[in-house]
Amino acid sequence: MYAKRISSLPPYLFAEIDARKKEAKGKGIDIIDLSIGDPDLPTPPHVVEAVCNAAKDPLNHRYPSYDGMLAFREAVAAWYNRRKRVHLDAEDEVLTLIGSKEGIAHSAFAFLDPGDIALVPDPAYPVYKGATLLANGIPHSVPLREENEFMPDLESIDKEVVRKAKLMFLNYPNNPTAAAVEKSFFKEIVDFAHDHDITILHDNPYSELTFEGYEAPSFLSVEGAKDVGIEFNSLSKTYNMTGWRIGYVIGNSELLKGLRLVKTNVDSGAFQAVQAAGIAALNGHQDCIEANVAIYRERRDILFDGLKSAGMEVKKPKATFYLWAKVPPGFSSIRFSMLLLERAGVVVTPGIGFGEAGEGFVRFSLCVNKERIKEACERLKKLAI
Ligand SMILES: *Cc1c(COP(=O)(O)O)cnc(C)c1O
Repeated sequence: MYAKRISSLPPYLFAEIDARKKEAKGKGIDIIDLSIGDPDLPTPPHVVEAVCNAAKDPLNHRYPSYDGMLAFREAVAAWYNRRKRVHLDAEDEVLTLIGSKEGIAHSAFAFLDPGDIALVPDPAYPVYKGATLLANGIPHSVPLREENEFMPDLESIDKEVVRKAKLMFLNYPNNPTAAAVEKSFFKEIVDFAHDHDITILHDNPYSELTFEGYEAPSFLSVEGAKDVGIEFNSLSKTYNMTGWRIGYVIGNSELLKGLRLVKTNVDSGAFQAVQAAGIAALNGHQDCIEANVAIYRERRDILFDGLKSAGMEVKKPKATFYLWAKVPPGFSSIRFSMLLLERAGVVVTPGIGFGEAGEGFVRFSLCVNKERIKEACERLKKLAI
């Protein structure tokens, strides 16, 4: 009944965890869900206001344009200029997406022929590997190891693989490890991409969730980056808009043309009222980002202290709303996650779900209020691990 490519797909991790949660809830366990990266905070009111107004305009009830509204793309370009010092041509170097996940997944179809190799970080957001498999490409795992601060060791990738590889996915600030990089790292990546003719797809949805003065660079802020790659970003995490499905991709105009061609055959663009809301978010006051970051910072500190006093090994992240903690000796990441669920009602994501190199870790997210995080910490302490 199904196409062969379906059988190569792993079950989507978060769907699996959902089933486990339901089971535990059915048993009457009070669940504290620290497993999913989905902001619990509301979208800023001025953005909600903008969608309401735009939804009333019949012009927005028709098919949107394929590239996205020019006004939205101009807002993206202006925002990147202000916040990341990256200059973009709104016409050719910005494409609206129905959430960045959509664009990431369709990129595999734009840039990979069957049998082509994509370098996929491990652990990683599961979509890079899933999309590569759907396009009948070959995902080649590039481990992100703790001793390298969760950056890829480019030298250690098999030379023959590097020679053949067409694409490389990257994501900093990183989900799930919370690793953050400096511009110098992207310089190395641009050289690597140039030397080996590899297209870079950088995924940057956590670019604004940064702490203590750390600023997450855009991949495109490095000289030569626009020749070799594109960057995905999203309003999902920056403005608490995961449910709205609005994101964008920027950079190399030829690459964007390829992705656009795939998209014109698959979807018909993002609802214009949602793009109008996106414009309000990007052009409006940005205090809402700072307010968000302050909330996550407080939660992060509570969870960090709590995990430490529960005896766990974890680093305080400079960015993202995740903590990537070591699993205690003697446990697999799945067994440890199950223990936390069954004995403490705390849901975390087992590292193995993000790839083999994620084994030995679990991911805690900061998307519940601080009282619940405190409660989760109390329960973990009682477990005496
Ligand atoms: C959340 C997330 C996305 C998805 O963002 P959308 O724009 O909501 O599709 C993409 N990449 C990573 C690494 C994420 O964590």
